[in-house]
Amino acid sequence: MYTADKRNRRTPDWHTDFSPRGSFLSPELQGIISATVAAQPQCGFARPAAIPGSALNFFGRNITLAARSTAIDKSDFLGLNKGLNLSSVHCNSTARPKAFSTSGQPKMAESTNALRYVDIGVNLSDPVFRGEYHGKQAHEDDLDDVIQRAKDVGCSKFMVTGSDLVESKHAISVASKYPGFCYATVGVHPCQAKLFDEYPEGAQKMLQELWTLVVQAKKDGHVVAFGEIGLDYDRLFLSPKEPQLKYFEAQLDLAVEIQLPLFLHSRAASEDFERLLAPRMARLPKRGLVHSFTGTLEEMHRMIALGLDVGVNGCSLKTEENLEVVKAIPLERLQIETDGPWCEIRPSHASAKHLEGAPELPKAVKKEKWQKGCMVKGRNEPIAIARVAHVIASVKGITVEEVCEAAWNNSIRMFGLGEKSA
Ligand SMILES: [Zn+2]
Repeated sequence: MYTADKRNRRTPDWHTDFSPRGSFLSPELQGIISATVAAQPQCGFARPAAIPGSALNFFGRNITLAARSTAIDKSDFLGLNKGLNLSSVHCNSTARPKAFSTSGQPKMAESTNALRYVDIGVNLSDPVFRGEYHGKQAHEDDLDDVIQRAKDVGCSKFMVTGSDLVESKHAISVASKYPGFCYATVGVHPCQAKLFDEYPEGAQKMLQELWTLVVQAKKDGHVVAFGEIGLDYDRLFLSPKEPQLKYFEAQLDLAVEIQLPLFLHSRAASEDFERLLAPRMARLPKRGLVHSFTGTLEEMHRMIALGLDVGVNGCSLKTEENLEVVKAIPLERLQIETDGPWCEIRPSHASAKHLEGAPELPKAVKKEKWQKGCMVKGRNEPIAIARVAHVIASVKGITVEEVCEAAWNNSIRMFGLGEKSA
């Protein structure tokens, strides 16, 4: 069995994908897989007891086995290779495994490099990750599982979006529950800008509360960006232009004063957006990121020229025009996100044809049919970041590793996230 080797372990952090065609599997793995299927027939996701600290995920063509703990030794893990039709091995530890022969599996899988992801925009404080939809409890709280299965594919850092004063507090509480993994952004989204004028003690008081919240959370190491702030002229019915402009400006000034990088949102407002940002960028050495970018090629170039990075998720990959823009984003300015529970990649999107060979997702069921280990239909979650990276790599004609490494380094450089910048 693949038990831990007690001799000087180096904390390996592995995962491997392989074909489930039975004839290639070692008897031990066949045993583990059939035991897992028997235990959870709906959802092919389990933590095989035989491999401590590991997770097994088998859907469609791909099986992913991930081991992320000191409980399994590198040589034990690599021992699984025997008799497997291995399509890739990823190592997230500093010690990298030797190259494998991969017996005719797709090219993208040949890599021996680490795949590590930061989901720079994910709304983990949304009640749907607690099983609550439109105020009704549909299933049990599965936030731990959502985070764990993202970690199992190499997504180890999450930036939890704050969208108003209350939501920012929720984002901070998620960050403090998962220290070292989750970090919050604090700010008031343009669509919520009217909340300032509706605040019982007045807009100034709300700005003050925001300030106090950010300063404390920054000191505690839980907040890494000021946002989500910006302008959204697509949804003026939620907040009219005037409060949007007024409180975008006021919050930018707070960000400059507190010295946090920006987490930005811009929709159909690029002229005003750039006009308010430009004079402040010189005083923001950590710059910022426009998340969920869906603008034109020219807008993208202007964002880059302003000093901003560009965040790409499923919504940024919907149309052919989107894909042309993503293709042109310089790697040194690219960051990736899921924007879960929103912005999933859909079969009708232009991105769909770039999904061949992409890591499969766990089975998705209706929320009423929720089962442990399953995703929920229509609820995007951070495990899908691997597919965002896959599409970007395919569009750009480069490897997934190149995309991941660049995006990881850009995110760490801008937001820190408890890591040392390369
Ligand atoms: Zn947004």
